[in-house]
Amino acid sequence: MADKYKIAVIEGDGIGPEIIGEALKVLDKVSGLYGFSMQTVMLDAGGVSIDKNGVPLTDETLAACRNSDAVLLGAVGGPKWDGLDPSIRPEKALLGLRSGLGLYANLRPAKLFDELAHASPIKDIKDVDILFVRELTGGIYFGDNGEYDSDEVLPDGTVKGHVAYDTECYSEGEILRILKIAFEAAKGRRQKVTLVDKANVLASSRLWRKLFGQVAKDYPDIATECLYVDNCSMQLISRPSEFDVIVTSNMFGDILSDEAGMITGSVGMLPSASLGTPGTPGLFEPIHGSAPDIAGTGKANPCAAILSVAMMLRYSLGQPLAADAIERAVADVISSGFRTSDLYREGSGEIFVNLSEITLAILKTLG
Ligand code: NAD
Repeated sequence: MADKYKIAVIEGDGIGPEIIGEALKVLDKVSGLYGFSMQTVMLDAGGVSIDKNGVPLTDETLAACRNSDAVLLGAVGGPKWDGLDPSIRPEKALLGLRSGLGLYANLRPAKLFDELAHASPIKDIKDVDILFVRELTGGIYFGDNGEYDSDEVLPDGTVKGHVAYDTECYSEGEILRILKIAFEAAKGRRQKVTLVDKANVLASSRLWRKLFGQVAKDYPDIATECLYVDNCSMQLISRPSEFDVIVTSNMFGDILSDEAGMITGSVGMLPSASLGTPGTPGLFEPIHGSAPDIAGTGKANPCAAILSVAMMLRYSLGQPLAADAIERAVADVISSGFRTSDLYREGSGEIFVNLSEITLAILKTLG
């Protein structure tokens, strides 16, 4: 019997419903081509849920996500909800989903489509295909923090006054599980993992480095490298094509994956995956937001959402061939010159398309 998957679908706000609608067309197509079937469960989260239920994420939505094989999400948020108290803003839905599903690994590819290299701020850039594996539920964003007053005097006579602190804290278990995800991902790629840390200063980074060396012994075919985060931020600009998988802590990954996303030049092309313990559903979403400025105009680029479907097929549903096919089809359509408004250049000979038209081209390429 063909595999049947239950997909929780959260369209969200702004362009979310438009891009997810296109992504579902592609999912439907590959399910027919690769012989599996799906049941989609449409759920609300973000601003739309605040309007309907008074909260960005209901217990029922979270339970339905837990009860699925994977979660596909568009984007949440928009000016309508900007004035709300931070505790019930749409973006809280993302944090609720991440913690509620135990998603500790964030995978963010930064892949340059060579035909879009002109959009990169780096000149003569090519062959960039990096996968960031960022720890998502530990480190300084979740460590002990607080504030207090101090009348201690510094050597130059300055009084400390009010003090605020955050703590970077990582356990062996937290580090080992994310390192394994990075090494496993490298097996299906160019066989290289770079650890980014600040081991010259931070005790937590020294633990990352020690465990990285241990895990690397289980993967003798994978090349390894360790870089300090300040050095890595420069190397990403000077030699981006030499990176394959980069594994790092929550905060370093947050910053560096945005830097790498910028290098590729196009927010509308970048997907992401957040994964937890094997057997629990992963969350797949484009890295961009709800783009309220273009919602409803047909200008949104659905490729990031479509490539998020490919990541879902690869990492949660065990359908790597269907994932490869989607990624190839998107690359083919870009190399054939199809461009949505975010990428189109007047007078370039490119084919200007709206979101449904580029999806149609992808569907045709799939066969
Ligand atoms: P944004 O990513 O929504 O938009 C930034 C710019 O990129 C805009 O000009 C937009 O038109 C353009 N853009 C984004 N996605 C595009 C696409 N697929 N095709 C074509 N152009 C695209 O970021 P923002 O404007 O800072 O945020 C808008 C809202 O989205 C805010 O409420 C923010 O909190 C929210 N947000 C949500 C997520 C998420 O759901 N994961 C992530 C980031 C921002």
